[in-house]
Amino acid sequence: MRGWQMSDTVTRLAEIRAAIGRAERDFGRKPGSVALVAVSKTKPAEQVTEALEAGQRVFGENYVQEAKTKWPALKERFPDVELHMIGPLQSNKARDAVELFDVIQSLDRESLAKELAREIARLGRTPRLFVQVNTGEEPQKGGVMPTEVDAFLARCRDVHGLAIEGLMCIPPAEDAPSPHFGLLAKIAARNGLKGLSMGMSADYEAAIQLGATHVRVGSAIFGARG
Ligand SMILES: *Cc1c(COP(=O)(O)O)cnc(C)c1O
Repeated sequence: MRGWQMSDTVTRLAEIRAAIGRAERDFGRKPGSVALVAVSKTKPAEQVTEALEAGQRVFGENYVQEAKTKWPALKERFPDVELHMIGPLQSNKARDAVELFDVIQSLDRESLAKELAREIARLGRTPRLFVQVNTGEEPQKGGVMPTEVDAFLARCRDVHGLAIEGLMCIPPAEDAPSPHFGLLAKIAARNGLKGLSMGMSADYEAAIQLGATHVRVGSAIFGARG
C-alpha cells in the first residue's frame, strides 16, 4: 500500500465538492448554498497550499497557536481566504482569534462572549460568529446546552452587542448524527438564525439534507490525522 500522496488532496477535494453538489440537488437545496470548510488542523502548510491552489478558500482550524504559525503567510499569498475557528477557544486567546479568524464557530459561554466583544471593539475587526451547541449534552464537550441556547443568544445580542450568524454542533461520536442535526436546525429556526455548521467527513451529506449551510470536512480531504 502506498502512503498518502500530496496530489490526493486535490483529488479528494474535487470529489467532496462534487458530492456536496449532488447532495444539494438530491435534497432540494439551492446550488452553492452549502459552504465547504476544509478542516486543515495538524496538516502542514504545503498540503494546505495544494488545496488553495486548487481554488479552495474556506478553511477551518482548531488551535489558535497552530493557526498563528501557519496562516499569516498563507493569507498573504491568498488574501481572499476565509478562516474559521472551530476548536475550543480559551478566553485568553480571544484577541488572537479576533485578529486572525474571519469566522469563530465555537462561541459557547458568557465569559468568551464578553472577551470577544471587548476585542472586537478594541481591534475594530468583527469576525462572523456561530454559537456552538452541545446537542448531545456531553459533559466533556464544549457548547451551550440546548435548553440554554435561546437565553444565551439573547444575552449575546442584548448584553454584549454581538451579532450571531448561526449555530454549530459536533454530535457524539457514538450517536446517529441526524437527530442532532435536526435539533440544531430547529433551535436555529426558532431563533431566526440562517447559519448551520454541521456535518463532518462521515456525515456531511446527512447534514446537507437537514439544512447545513457549512460542512466541516477534514480527513476526507487531507487524510487521517496522526
Ligand atoms: C476535526 C474537526 C472536524 C473535521 O473532522 P473530520 O472527521 O476529519 O472531517 C470538523 N469539525 C470540528 C469541530 C473538528 O474538530
